Amino acid sequence: MENNSYPYDELLVNKDVDSDYCCPLCTLLLSVNLQCREGHVFCVSCWNKQLENKKECVMCRCEVKSIACLSKNRFLEKEIRKLNIYCPNRFLKDKDCNDCLIEDENGCKSIITIDQIDSHLKSCLYNYVNCSNPGCGEEHRANTVGEHEKVCKYQIVSCLLCNDNNIQRKDLKYHYDCICSKTKTHCKCCSTLIERGQLPQHMAEECGNVLIPCRYKDGGCDKYIPRCELSKHLIEEDNHHKYILNIIEQHKSRMDQLASSINSMKLNFENQNRYSGKWIISNWSEKLQQFPAKKFLPLSFNLSPMKPFSIRLYPNGTNAMWGNITISLVKEFIIESKIKFSFEIENVDLSKSEEQVKVDTFKCLNDSWSLQFFGTYDSNNGFIRDNSITINFTIIVEKCYENCFITE
Ligand SMILES: [Zn+2]
Ligand SMILES: [Zn+2]
Ligand SMILES: [Zn+2]
Ligand SMILES: [Zn+2]
Ligand SMILES: [Zn+2]
Ligand SMILES: [Zn+2]
Ligand SMILES: [Zn+2]
Repeated sequence: MENNSYPYDELLVNKDVDSDYCCPLCTLLLSVNLQCREGHVFCVSCWNKQLENKKECVMCRCEVKSIACLSKNRFLEKEIRKLNIYCPNRFLKDKDCNDCLIEDENGCKSIITIDQIDSHLKSCLYNYVNCSNPGCGEEHRANTVGEHEKVCKYQIVSCLLCNDNNIQRKDLKYHYDCICSKTKTHCKCCSTLIERGQLPQHMAEECGNVLIPCRYKDGGCDKYIPRCELSKHLIEEDNHHKYILNIIEQHKSRMDQLASSINSMKLNFENQNRYSGKWIISNWSEKLQQFPAKKFLPLSFNLSPMKPFSIRLYPNGTNAMWGNITISLVKEFIIESKIKFSFEIENVDLSKSEEQVKVDTFKCLNDSWSLQFFGTYDSNNGFIRDNSITINFTIIVEKCYENCFITE
């Protein structure tokens, strides 16, 4: 089916057309014609109407089974396509009124034949096209759409002040009035004209009319004063020396807190490598009987989760020759460590307690060092009380060789 969507009858330059060029039924121009085998010519829509009604030609009644059985009158078609018409773009686009074309003084002035219409419209400068600005949707003739796009309210434009280059023309005024950081605006407090972007800083640091808290707020002055009157207020308000003292006190106590937290940090650090304890052993006279030389009383403790130790107390020494009290420290972890340790047998009179100190390197697992006490320890000289002996001990890991590498 050929393109028949243009109102050719309306577009004709010379409306006075030979009646042979018109459909005998509807009198419209036969821009597309169909004929029966006897040569009776009607337009497509009149044939369609007729065949819905009866499968025959309305003139000669010959049978027409369907529209496909009809043929074209090529000669007639050729003649009609030579007729002069106005370009459809000569008229205003009016979708509500297809039958009444209104001439547009800015429209296309070309006169063409029906045959030329498709090729002409491909390049006619008066075709309607859409504005390319997103959101606009307006239609303009191809030769004027450029002008429209330049003033279109949906065109993307730049703010000349702040260089924001993604503003639609319609939003530009709002941008200047309410958003642009470079437009000047009055400070609400002092009415100074100032760039909008500078306003927060102006309020926070400069504006003399902004109410600010007194400098000695933390010391107890709860007054709010316009910034420009602060120095006057500081002179006039009598209690300020009191407020200043309050602030000094606050600072002092903060310093004390700081110092004490530093101390406790130090202590914590030392405690990680230090252990002291008191070991009270009751029924001492029985222990002397039960633990002959080489037999010991054990005590286990952890200096830290990774540093287990034990102490062995030999009431009658580590061999039969020497019957004196001997105390050993056993390092029950692998890492080689330099350890300072002390054992003290406590006396009722603490100044008479007997202490021994040793610093040594403990190498492998269960490595141990001993300290021997050669005195006499009994209830007469204050070392044994209620048949109990008390051992005080301190272990300090001075160096811990977490990684030890040996090349032989
Ligand atoms: Zn017709
Ligand atoms: Zn016929
Ligand atoms: Zn045209
Ligand atoms: Zn537009
Ligand atoms: Zn701007
Ligand atoms: Zn201001
Ligand atoms: Zn004040």
